[in-house]
Amino acid sequence: MADMRTLLVEDDPLLGDGIRAGLKQAGYAVDWVQDGSTAKLSLESGDYSLMVLDLGLPKLSGMAILNWLRGSGRTLPVLVLTARDTVADRVAGLDAGADDYLIKPFDLDELIARLRALSRRSGGLASPLLMHGEIELDPAARQVRKNGQAVELSAREFTLLHELMLHAGRVQSREQLEERLYGWGEEVESNSVEVHVHHLRKKLGSDLIRTLRGVGYVIDK
Ligand code: CA
Repeated sequence: MADMRTLLVEDDPLLGDGIRAGLKQAGYAVDWVQDGSTAKLSLESGDYSLMVLDLGLPKLSGMAILNWLRGSGRTLPVLVLTARDTVADRVAGLDAGADDYLIKPFDLDELIARLRALSRRSGGLASPLLMHGEIELDPAARQVRKNGQAVELSAREFTLLHELMLHAGRVQSREQLEERLYGWGEEVESNSVEVHVHHLRKKLGSDLIRTLRGVGYVIDK
């Protein structure tokens, strides 16, 4: 389940929490750390496929992390966040191996769009396609096809389908699915999983997801 695991490095607690919640809602599994040396430790021990990196950090700067990362041959895509709108910072960041950057303040949707583009460009090496009959799900590109035709899904529909396909043959309880769909502290609408399942069935076929009354949902193997 290591696909699209994202390391978020941001020392501003409000901004970090907002980004973490936004990315989670968009279907990314996010680990959030708040200083440079913890970020380095996480990169050494974890298997990340994407990083969002603030440049101004306590203990070890974002630039130092980037230099170390690329020096050690790691290729994961990095999007740099910088508060300082100066040409010099951008050039230095891109020279040091950032793949993209955003100037604070930025729009969360813009960040997610950029990350999607980065995942696509990186080829989703860590994220194999999931197949189920005529349904194909590409975790890196966040795309779903039925019989080779692209199907438009909302972020939460995608996350739900991804969960069920990853765990094909195993029943997922409504609570488990809600946990994946909603970030910490977010209000969960009482029937939201049912509603998303209903939409997925309409878009992808009524027999794709099986309901086990009072237990949960499953995509049969
Ligand atoms: Ca900072």
